[in-house]
Amino acid sequence: MSLNPATLNIKDLELKTGASAGELLKKLRSFREKHGGMDRIADTQLYISGMFVLRRTDLLEAANITHVVSVLRGRLDQSQVEKYASAGRHLHIEVNDDDDENLIEYFQTSNAFIDKAIQEGGGVLVHCAMGISRSATICAAYLIYKRQIPAEIALEILKQSRPIICPNFAFRKQLDIYSENLEQAIKNLDDVPAYQRYLYRKEVELSRLAHKAPTINHYAEDESREAADMQLKCRKCRRTLALSSSFVDHYAASPPVASSSRDRILTAVGLNKSNCQHHFLDPVVWMKPELEKGEMEGKLECPKCSSKVGSYAWHGMKCSCGIWVTPAISLAKSKVDESRPRSTL
Ligand SMILES: [Zn+2]
Ligand SMILES: [Zn+2]
Repeated sequence: MSLNPATLNIKDLELKTGASAGELLKKLRSFREKHGGMDRIADTQLYISGMFVLRRTDLLEAANITHVVSVLRGRLDQSQVEKYASAGRHLHIEVNDDDDENLIEYFQTSNAFIDKAIQEGGGVLVHCAMGISRSATICAAYLIYKRQIPAEIALEILKQSRPIICPNFAFRKQLDIYSENLEQAIKNLDDVPAYQRYLYRKEVELSRLAHKAPTINHYAEDESREAADMQLKCRKCRRTLALSSSFVDHYAASPPVASSSRDRILTAVGLNKSNCQHHFLDPVVWMKPELEKGEMEGKLECPKCSSKVGSYAWHGMKCSCGIWVTPAISLAKSKVDESRPRSTL
């Protein structure tokens, strides 16, 4: 039986295990001592913990902690970090452990801060409230940056040092975006398409909850820089309306199932890709005047010949295959032609 100290009920356990409350409390304390304390990450000078370790100046000194990164909003006892802050050795990243927090935008700053401290022979403690999600994300981002490894491996290394780490779902996703686009992210995060897509989805979701049209900050180009891009062209006037880089796979957006079994499931419930009469897209630059009207839904016209080519609905629409797509920006397959660049023919 595995014990989760967060939900431990001593009385229940006393009955179930026959052990005395005293013995159980002792075990619980030693668990907290071991896992709620400070853990060194592999052979680095990087340490991770919850916030209570800040009181343990003996531990901090023994580990040669010279710099502290606090990853939490509010709740920070300034007197405990004063020593570091006054020497310019404290970095405070104010985020909650929530799905809608953007931690990836701080990676560059935290990585530079940690790296400089370690290069100078110091030791860095990264802490949040519990040392489970936020601090683990910042530490993982540093390992990804420093060792050029996938997020999965970075988290595995962290787990070996601190088994209770568990970044929330959104932070996990952000670590993937970061590690999969590392070179570009280090240069300029805003240039990473996957990051722009993440920001766009977040904005649409928050606006949808407020029953408002989203503010779109990024539009995909409709001109191809890469020769291999598949394109959608207006059937009537041949103007290029979208590149494959802005296609949204509405099958991938449904719950994760192995593709072969997903096809079986989709067929079983009457869903089939060949029934799709729409291409779903991220916002493309020619759609700007329409999408900035602030409407919740509307029609899309070809910018050259003005024929109706599609529609959009921020609250989503059902594709002819049966899948509900949110948000939905769609071009009708009957109004556009798929075209491959001549160089690949
Ligand atoms: Zn479909
Ligand atoms: Zn047209």
